[in-house]
Amino acid sequence: MRRIYDFHGGIYPAERKTLSNEGSIRKAAIPSQLVLPLAQHIGPTAAPAVAVGQEVRGGERLTDLSGLPLHAPTSGVIGAIEERPIPHASGMMAPCIVINCDKEDRWIELTPVEDFRRLSPDQLGRQLFEAGIAGLGGAGFPTARKLPGDSNDAIKTLIINGTECEPYITSDDALMRERADRIIAGVEILAHIARPKEILIGIEDNKPEAIAAFETALARREDMELVTFPTKYPSGGEKQLIEILTGKEVPSGGLPASIGILCQNVGTAAAVHDAIVLGRPLVSRVTTVTGESARNRGNFDVLLGTPMEDLLAQADYQPTVRQRLIMGGPMMGVTLADHRCPVIKTTNCLLVPGPGELPEPEPAQACIRCGLCAEACPARLLPQQLYWFARAQNHEQLEEHHLFDCIECGACSYVCPSHIPLVQYYRASKAAVREQKADNARADHARERFEARQERMAREAAEKEAKRAARKRAALAKAADQAADGDPIQAAIERAQARKAALAKTPGDEQAIQREKLARIETRLAKAREKLAADDGSDPAITSALEKAVATTESKLADLQTTIAGAGGTPARTDSDSETTSETENA
Ligand code: SF4
Ligand code: SF4
Repeated sequence: MRRIYDFHGGIYPAERKTLSNEGSIRKAAIPSQLVLPLAQHIGPTAAPAVAVGQEVRGGERLTDLSGLPLHAPTSGVIGAIEERPIPHASGMMAPCIVINCDKEDRWIELTPVEDFRRLSPDQLGRQLFEAGIAGLGGAGFPTARKLPGDSNDAIKTLIINGTECEPYITSDDALMRERADRIIAGVEILAHIARPKEILIGIEDNKPEAIAAFETALARREDMELVTFPTKYPSGGEKQLIEILTGKEVPSGGLPASIGILCQNVGTAAAVHDAIVLGRPLVSRVTTVTGESARNRGNFDVLLGTPMEDLLAQADYQPTVRQRLIMGGPMMGVTLADHRCPVIKTTNCLLVPGPGELPEPEPAQACIRCGLCAEACPARLLPQQLYWFARAQNHEQLEEHHLFDCIECGACSYVCPSHIPLVQYYRASKAAVREQKADNARADHARERFEARQERMAREAAEKEAKRAARKRAALAKAADQAADGDPIQAAIERAQARKAALAKTPGDEQAIQREKLARIETRLAKAREKLAADDGSDPAITSALEKAVATTESKLADLQTTIAGAGGTPARTDSDSETTSETENA
């Protein structure tokens, strides 16, 4: 027999499960309009892939795959893509896809997987993602992201959570009583993906019918173990259930995978079965409608996007003065301001209490430092300290005291004799810390972008200046060359003309040719000297080039004078002549 462990703290609130756990799961009617918020899970949101006026059929994908996708729960026409009230404590609006249902419930052809064992963990994970499967236990974490891939064999224990410890809620209980085989088939798929050494299905002992259903379904199986344990709130918390079944503690800030454990809810396991074996995406869920203001309470298989007022009407809802609508249970649920909010993937319960059923909280008194909150806390936190830090908005101390390990179970608020709404302080503080981190990240990002821009501008300016200086140097060098040689084109033309004239003349005219040449070099020398005299000496390279030009021209002039003198009036053909011919041809 497996040893059962206990976790620190916990409480025993009135369960009130009998209000809704009698009778079978009922299929809720298709409403005239479905409202599907794009964000129904943790993580990035997908973008709409349909347009207003477009016809859709059941199972058709409505969004792209940039986030966990949404699918049409039934057939109809896209009536709007706009902001609508969503189930959130703040009463906020968010983008939704609205389907005007035609009530014909026409579906696309589904593509079931014939034998999931032929698919790899990665392939199955991809199919679960594309089917939009998110954890149905409450947090709405995309299931595929929790699963190990092909290369990971670190999961030792797969735990299936059938605890459902929160008062009033019975949707998982109903599912386990009626669909144990489907849940087990989903567990087989999860086990094929995670390859655990053991599979444990944990159910609290206040659900005898669910336990009996699983005992029957698992009668001839040795690969899965049903574990029942005493009822205590909040045993259904992931970390608490792991401790109950294995005695292991998930480290602060860590994930179950870090100690080789994967935990999935029973509703998620059933959805995994539907996605792979039936090829059916996640478009509906079992939701409890309970509380004394609903006369026909029970569990409903309801299409996602169904307005809560429609579902409540099917449970014969009789609102009273100052009626409250709570999504979830009395401990962890959120009070909603708008009955038009839709049922989403995480809506496990709608609680509509009657007068006096859930008394309004009494006014908070001063903390008397009794320490009861710390005794009740299943996460071994110091709720009283967190309360003071939350009031002081001391985010650093809140994080140092492990605020984010708080599972918001409300056990501390429940036992507090001063009626301090402790959990509300923690929820608000978590939001404030997250917001501050987001602000810091945005500021860091903006600073990095500014610095990168400054660097880029400085680099571009330096490159520009280097190019400008190079251009200036090239221009000056060219000017220096021209100063030495005169205009090269004009000089070439002149040399060609002189050559032509020389060829046309008789040998007796050679002296005249040499004299003309002498005159041209003298002119060129005068120009070079003029430019050298005008140079301000700011660039040594330029000055050197000008000096060289003057020296070269002087040398040519001296050579020619020597040639003329040596020839005694009949100069011989010189090197400079052949150079001139060559230059002319080149020109
Ligand atoms: S239970 Fe309430 S009164 Fe007692 S220490 Fe905690 S916060 Fe203070
Ligand atoms: S709400 Fe948080 S601090 Fe309070 S008992 Fe639960 S885990 Fe502990």
